[in-house]
Amino acid sequence: MTPHGLQRNGPQRTVLVSGASIAGPALAYWLHRAGCAVTVVEKAGALRGGGYPVDIRGTALEVVRRMGILPRLRDAHVDSRRLTFLDADGGEVASLPPGAVAGGVEGQDLEVRRGDLAEILYATVRDDVEFLFGDSIDTLDRSGHGIDVAFRSGRRRTFDLVIGADGMHSATRKALFGPEEQFHRYLGYCFAVFTLPNTFGLSREVVLWNAPGKAGALYAVGDNDELHAFLTFHRPQPPARAALRDPGVQRDLVAAVFAGAGWEIPRMVGAMRDADDLFFDTVGQIRMPHWSSGRVALVGDAAHAPSFLTGQGSSLALVGAYMLAGALAANRDHTAAFAAYERDLRAFVTMNQALVDHGAATLFPTTARALEQRDAMLRGLVTLPSATARPAHSALTLPAFPTTP
Ligand SMILES: Cc1cc2nc3c(=O)[nH]c(=O)nc-3n(C[C@H](O)[C@H](O)[C@H](O)COP(=O)(O)OP(=O)(O)OC[C@H]3O[C@@H](n4cnc5c(N)ncnc54)[C@H](O)[C@@H]3O)c2cc1C
Repeated sequence: MTPHGLQRNGPQRTVLVSGASIAGPALAYWLHRAGCAVTVVEKAGALRGGGYPVDIRGTALEVVRRMGILPRLRDAHVDSRRLTFLDADGGEVASLPPGAVAGGVEGQDLEVRRGDLAEILYATVRDDVEFLFGDSIDTLDRSGHGIDVAFRSGRRRTFDLVIGADGMHSATRKALFGPEEQFHRYLGYCFAVFTLPNTFGLSREVVLWNAPGKAGALYAVGDNDELHAFLTFHRPQPPARAALRDPGVQRDLVAAVFAGAGWEIPRMVGAMRDADDLFFDTVGQIRMPHWSSGRVALVGDAAHAPSFLTGQGSSLALVGAYMLAGALAANRDHTAAFAAYERDLRAFVTMNQALVDHGAATLFPTTARALEQRDAMLRGLVTLPSATARPAHSALTLPAFPTTP
């Protein structure tokens, strides 16, 4: 019998999940429900808390409702009150409810810190699932009936299946399918994220400064002392790979791009220089023809990162985890399960990845003309009654979770 009393055919499936952020713990929850013995390995020494806010919308809300964590997520809801757009000199262009821009449903959609979501997901599974923090997969040997895994720590184990939930720059994907470049679609922007003291008097709001091809955002998640800062800039070609690895080069690059910019940008650049949590990356998507190979599959950003321009990364990760576990619950044969997972999720992913064009045009216009048009559109939005949800957010109707394998 499984933990939920399901009758299974054959021995209990053992599954190793790599990554304990959003997709990993959500998948672990549903795999446990499907009767699997689950181990999650996370390279960080502990679950990472706090962090920038992410959105849970549309179909993903139904996933968290079925997990029973909707009330806890509502308690953690950031509830940003407004999004204020500033021009290059710092003058106000428009101040709107954030949903008016992202296409959210007021009162339903959730915005929570990524770390709070991870902690709430983790709390639902930590007693039922084995977690290995501070470790990672070193090698995968797929030559036998299962997968022989050698961990960095030196431990060795064999699993029936391995799932990569290890994010945009997934090591599981690299081991399975080769270098990331084949699947990474650069979207023409780079960004730096870091925290800084809230000396700006902001509270539960976002302020976004724009000049053509450049943007600076300050995100006050609560009433606390910390702000999340974003500096984003347009760049037709991605920086050299070396720059992506060297924080000193990253800081110099950002400082050079924003030299002479108005408003509080010089203060933000100064804070970036001192920040000990700077995260710099290109804005891009992961697009793959297949999400599995043999006994290994990918879920969440590792399979199909949509980029933060869509605001749908966490929602796709939650829905993908549900659909993958559901397919495995319904099919004893993992090949059939992985095929069903791809068949039933692909269109939803494609629709949500396509939201990127709207996000880029709204948040980061690259030319003076595009910025003028954006600002004119924003001034018009103030008079609209309310925003409506984007169809892509709810484009998948969640099937019932299978109760028999
Ligand atoms: C700056 C920024 C802003 C964002 N804003 C939004 C937003 O507004 N709305 C939204 O919905 N989404 C947003 N996202 C995207 C969102 O964070 C991701 O889409 C979401 O977290 C995907 O979850 P995931 O579990 O697939 O991957 P991740 O959250 O990337 O988690 C991957 C996990 O795997 C671990 N890991 C990595 N490598 C290994 C390894 N080799 N072995 C073991 N563990 C490993 C990592 O430590 C991490 O815990 C944003 C992302 C960024 C970077």
